Parts: sequence; structure tokens; C-alpha cells
Amino acid sequence: MRIGIIGCGQLARMMALAGIPLGLKFSFVADGGPDTDLSCVEGLGPVAPWQPGQSVSALYEALGKPEVITVEKEQVDLELVRALEAHCIIRPNVDSIAKCKSRIHEKQLLAELGIPCAPFTYDVSLEESAKTLDYPMVIKSLDEGYDGKNQWVVRSNDDLVSVAPNLKQGHYLAEQWIPFDAEVSIIGVRGASGEVSCYPLTENQHQNGILVRSMAPARGLSGEMVQQAQSYMTKLLQAQEYVGVLAMELFVLGDKLLVNELAPRVHNSGHWTQLGAQTCQFENHIRAVAGLALGATSAIGKTGMLNLLGVVAPPMDALSSNASLHWYNKAAKPNRKLGHINFMLDDYAQLVSQMQSVEQSLVKC
Ligand code: ATP
Ligand code: MG
Ligand code: MG
Repeated sequence: MRIGIIGCGQLARMMALAGIPLGLKFSFVADGGPDTDLSCVEGLGPVAPWQPGQSVSALYEALGKPEVITVEKEQVDLELVRALEAHCIIRPNVDSIAKCKSRIHEKQLLAELGIPCAPFTYDVSLEESAKTLDYPMVIKSLDEGYDGKNQWVVRSNDDLVSVAPNLKQGHYLAEQWIPFDAEVSIIGVRGASGEVSCYPLTENQHQNGILVRSMAPARGLSGEMVQQAQSYMTKLLQAQEYVGVLAMELFVLGDKLLVNELAPRVHNSGHWTQLGAQTCQFENHIRAVAGLALGATSAIGKTGMLNLLGVVAPPMDALSSNASLHWYNKAAKPNRKLGHINFMLDDYAQLVSQMQSVEQSLVKC
């Protein structure tokens, strides 16, 4: 069986690296998305370039006629995905990808299912948004946002005046700033036969909107909160008849959980599962989209994941008996995600201190 992946980044790379041992073949669509570096998928299967207006049948041929196509990102050309649906199965389904592509459709989906998120306004003036939400608020473009790009924190009328020229009403939403205690995420997976499984929750630390560190299983959450997150995830997977991995980012505010956003794909906050879970998110996504039985999602230890942002070369010195390195083979640029290291240790305090000392030793560009 061949699986086509739209996108050629590190997520496509790690999905293929997880699926190859299962005897699956891969091919990749190079659609010129932001931050593409074809060297990520070098040697893993054919890469077919694609631009709007080109023949989709020719693309499908160039991909080696995969039985299934999946995505490594939500920012895909939906017309392309819909046209590919005439040739093979798309997993997750196009409607799920489309809903996660636009922040407003995503919020509407959450509202329909009774899943809480941060208060927001849409399609009103910035002044009206500020009246409704008060400062600080965060303005987010409806799509084309990742790693905190295309968002603006507005703390005052002056800030409002300075961001206004970037924004066209109806093309963004404004969200109340949530003074969260922590950020967590949950990765869930639904198989083609409808079975659902969730990984333990992950604690995430961001800097300037970019994920830097994750720890799993997340600390300090009550059993009820974990169950709540699992029930939101299960509801979404079932309502959308979703097949594959779905990621949900959440804010923890006291004993409440508010959804920040969804990603219809494998997710950076699930990279720890490569070392710390019985089956990693990449293998489970591939098993799901290939119509195979899922693997167990339970944690086998306490794991930390450190993103290698703008690190000039693979930090081989960080390797040790409890640490594993995943290098993406991309050209180094400041703040770019170039790899990550997973660490596993029984003791959280020791895990944090090991991660800190590796982080301090990294040489960045
Ligand atoms: P990703 O790379 O995860 O897709 P993104 O560009 O889609 O990121 P968000 O997840 O919406 O961006 O926001 C990035 C980060 O900014 C969040 O993880 C959080 O730290 C902060 N943030 C976003 N929205 C809010 C909010 N309403 N209140 C407080 N912090 C926020
Ligand atoms: Mg996002
Ligand atoms: Mg996010």
C-alpha cells in the first residue's frame, strides 16, 4: 500500500519513518507551503511538485497512485484535496481538514459540540472587539497562522491603532487573552473502524508563540480534567467521523479547560510519544489512515521533549542512555524547528534539570 502525504516537512518525514517498517510506501506533494525544505523527505519516496492550476490527475500519477492521501498541515489547498478525493481516500476527511484550516470554522465546530474555548469576536471592528473583550486581547488571522505568526497581542488603544493597518474585517478574529496557569494538549486517534484512543495529556511551554518544551504525562491536573479533555477529543473524533490523529491545544485556568486550537494531524506536542508511549503518534496516524488496528497509546514513562530551534547542527553530545535525537535534515535558520530530543526519566525534577543543561549547551544560529 502507498500513502501520499501533502507536505514535505518534518511531520511528513516522521510519518513516513514510522510507516516504512510496516511495509508501506510513501510519496509527497511539494505544494510550496511556508518553511518547506524538501531535504526532510529525501530518500523516503517520490516528491511531486504542485501548484494551483496544474493537473490533479497528473499529480496523482506522479505520486504513484496512492490508495490513501493524508496531510501534514491544515494549510492545504482545499480545492486540491477535494479533486484528489476523486482518485483515492482522503484521511482525515476533507471536511475535518477544512474546519481546522479556518479558526472561525473551528470555533463554530467547538460551539456546536458544546466544547468551551476563549471568548472571541468575529467580523466586527477592532474597536467593537476591544469593547466586548477588553484588553489584553489577541488578534489571529483566520488561516495561514502557525508558530504564533499572523497574530498580534493588543494591550491598549495605541496597540490597536498600530495593528489596524494589517487587518481587514472578516479576515481575523479577536480572542480574549487568557491568563492561563498552564498550556496542555491532548492527542487522540480514531481508526477506520471507529475505535478511539487518547494519549496522556502533555504540558507545553511556548516562547513567542513557538513550542519549546513538552512534558508528559502532564502534572497537576485532576482526574476530572483529564477525563474532560478526553471527552472533548472523543466527541470531536466521533462527530467528524475522523480517521487519523487529531491534536487539541488547551489552556488550563484553575480547574477549567478552554480549547485554544485544533490541528488535524500529528503535532509537535506529541513528539514525546516516540520515546514515551507504547505506540508513537506517527505510527498510530499511519495505522489509522491505512485502515489498520491502532497501537496502545499508554505512556511507558515520564518523558520530556525539547525542540531544537535554530540549532546549527545535530547536537550529538546530548545523546545519552535516556535521550534520543530526531534531526529533520533542514537548513538552519534562526528559530526554525530543526529537530527535537526526547528524554525519559522516572523523576520529573531530574528530567527538567537534564533538559535545562542540554538546552544551555545548544549552539544556535
Ligand atoms: P501553532 O504553531 O501551535 O499552530 P499558532 O500560530 O496557531 O500556533 P496559537 O496556538 O493560537 O498559534 O497561539 C500560540 C501561543 O500564543 C499559544 O500556545 C499561547 O501560548 C499564546 N496564546 C494564543 N492565544 C492566546 C490567548 N487567547 N490567551 C493567552 N495566550 C494565548
Ligand atoms: Mg495553530
Ligand atoms: Mg497553537
